[in-house]
Amino acid sequence: MTSLASIFRNKKIVFLDMDGTIYLGEKLIQGTKGFLSALRKKGLKYYYLSNNSSRSKTDYVSKLKHLGIPASTEEIILSTDGVIDFLRGRKTDKTYVVGTQSMKDMFIQAEIEVDSQNPTYIILGFDTELNYRKIKTAALFLQRGIPMLATHKDLVCPTQDGPIPDVGAMLALFEKATGKTPEKIFGKPNKEMLDYIIKRHEAAVDELIIIGDRIYTDMEMANQIGCDFILVLSGETKKEDLSKLKSQPALIVENLGQLYSD
Ligand SMILES: [Mg+2]
Repeated sequence: MTSLASIFRNKKIVFLDMDGTIYLGEKLIQGTKGFLSALRKKGLKYYYLSNNSSRSKTDYVSKLKHLGIPASTEEIILSTDGVIDFLRGRKTDKTYVVGTQSMKDMFIQAEIEVDSQNPTYIILGFDTELNYRKIKTAALFLQRGIPMLATHKDLVCPTQDGPIPDVGAMLALFEKATGKTPEKIFGKPNKEMLDYIIKRHEAAVDELIIIGDRIYTDMEMANQIGCDFILVLSGETKKEDLSKLKSQPALIVENLGQLYSD
């Protein structure tokens, strides 16, 4: 009989961060599979979250499958989703995307032009295929007064080899060069990222739980929503970081494996 910690009592939806929570680079974190199967047995709905806009949902489904976790694109929530929703709301389909081909594919699927000569918005994602031509074009558009939207604000992205420059660092580059800051930043900890899922399930705040490894994105988002947060120490945050915090997570565990028992 599998049971989950009492914190899951009355919960309906679990939002799981991916990097540092489910896997680190190409390695699955201990206990992940057992935890996911315990959630399924309990009938809890779960979603995977990532600020990493360098990959598309299809890329994530393949990655999870490769790690032995079956998932569908509907279960994956990316910072890119919020940007696409926003553009739809503004009824604009002309953008200049500084992003990977995978990210551009998500825009193209949503019928949004990614290389417009006359964009309404410049979109900045985690561009691991960045080159000077893209930086130059975006900087010139910014100076013409075209606003920028950023998928998220993480300064660095954790990798097996160490942290590497992410969108936040690129925003600093554009600000130094043009004096311009983005009109809006999506992704964690901006709670808008989860609004449509919460609405779709008609879930109350105390029926939600976020699990992640980062204080200033995952826990901050839970604080913004007002829901419970479980910190896993399998990623970025170390035990000694906790004493500096004003508020503490509802629960702290080494990894997802500690959240269920066989
Ligand atoms: Mg993480």
